[in-house]
Amino acid sequence: MSDITALSASELAESLASGDLSSAEITQAHLDRMEATEGIVGSFLARSETALDTAQHSDARRKKGEARSPLEGVPVAIKDVLCTTDMVTTAGSRILEGWIPPYDATVVRKLREAGLVPLGKTNMDEFAMGSSTEHSGYHVTKNPWDLSRAPGGSGGGSAAAVAARQAPVAIGSDTGGSIRQPAAFTGTVGVKPTYGGVSRYGVIALASSLDQVGPVSRTVRDSALIHDVIGGHDPQDSTSIPTPWASMTEAADTGAQAADLAGLRVGVVKQLVTEGIQPGVKQRFDEALELMAAQGAEIIEVDAPHCEYAVAAYYLVLPAEASSNLAKFDSVRFGLRVTPEGNPTVEDVMAATRDQGFGDEVKRRIILGTYALSAGYYDAYYGSAQKVRTLIQRDFAQAFDKVDVLVSPSAPTTAFPLGAKLDDPLAMWAGDLTTIPVNLAGIPGMSLPMGLDPEDGLPVGLQLMAPAYEDARLYKAGATLERLFFERDGYLVSSRTPEVV
Ligand code: GLN
Repeated sequence: MSDITALSASELAESLASGDLSSAEITQAHLDRMEATEGIVGSFLARSETALDTAQHSDARRKKGEARSPLEGVPVAIKDVLCTTDMVTTAGSRILEGWIPPYDATVVRKLREAGLVPLGKTNMDEFAMGSSTEHSGYHVTKNPWDLSRAPGGSGGGSAAAVAARQAPVAIGSDTGGSIRQPAAFTGTVGVKPTYGGVSRYGVIALASSLDQVGPVSRTVRDSALIHDVIGGHDPQDSTSIPTPWASMTEAADTGAQAADLAGLRVGVVKQLVTEGIQPGVKQRFDEALELMAAQGAEIIEVDAPHCEYAVAAYYLVLPAEASSNLAKFDSVRFGLRVTPEGNPTVEDVMAATRDQGFGDEVKRRIILGTYALSAGYYDAYYGSAQKVRTLIQRDFAQAFDKVDVLVSPSAPTTAFPLGAKLDDPLAMWAGDLTTIPVNLAGIPGMSLPMGLDPEDGLPVGLQLMAPAYEDARLYKAGATLERLFFERDGYLVSSRTPEVV
């Protein structure tokens, strides 16, 4: 048997079903891998102390013929923004240091009920604000492809863990790209489901009108398997969509078996393929379009003119909602409490706690958001941003009248060097151009590797977008494309992580 940690979740599931491997063996292999690589990669904020016990319990169930899902016994890493009763949950912030939630997020509960084995909580930018994971209140996560580079963010820990084979699959959250951009930077697959497709109950809120939870994996099918476990209606989340969903796994399997892309209408969003795109990213994107055309897809250029204002609108909507969501971190109910000397008032304690507990990026956004929501400015800032959002939604709706899926590069660049954008928030934010419109429109988006940049040798992500509720379309098209890229290149990008082999 080849190295267990090189196997995909689908392959692990098969080995478990056939009895070739036990969950205890699989889990131990990943724990060993974490032990060997965590010192250089730094994907995790907390490790589960019960993973092996859970795995043994899972093996016992399977022996009795009581496997709860195809993924029974498969390990998973969980972004630290999801509440877990058995592990500290901090959202990457010092203000929640040591906090153990009283309940599991619905997604975590569903993973446990499907028999998956949580390995630990992954590193992230504080409260999911960032694009490099450098805004974590704890430590920097390195990109397993090049340790001098960022793994993307905010879910850099989940993506790095999967790329470094510390976990076969991981859970992320995506408010403006935090699943897709780290996936692109680490050569993995990441999916932001339709808004309302996956429960946010027990997910520490960043911007409630944008947040979605989704999978990160090394293959399209693995993301589909996870999506099927975590997706679906949850009465505890009022934004959760009550209608039933198609099977993402079946869609991925259909796509993988498709001979070609005949009949697929692929729209290229002009405004997301801008001048500023790194030449190697543009080259791989053009080659992907050529490949799709050669395989029978019809490539159509489409306009989404208001995407030009997407970054500006997002960086008003997000701070506004975040400033309100983060008001609950007041030193009274959760985590840290800093009591200044002398005879402090309640307000003094709150101010000192928030000053010490929050990092610079979080403070920056709270200030921005509070300002944007303040009397006299509300209409000019938050109101205008919401109008832009409606226009972007309309742009996408019109585009989907003409095409089945939309495509763009997942990010304008490959993974940038650590520190490169840390002192320049505007540069950091500008990199979110390609992913943000998807959240503003509420539609599903997938990033999958489409090759390596010929200059820096780093992974390049292709973003696929579909109309709301049509997540299955992404898995079908994504699985066909993944196979086509494999046939063209002779390898899957996600199987090669040079710095940690
Ligand atoms: N990079 C974006 C931001 O900083 C996206 C964050 C996210 O999706 N959580 O807001």
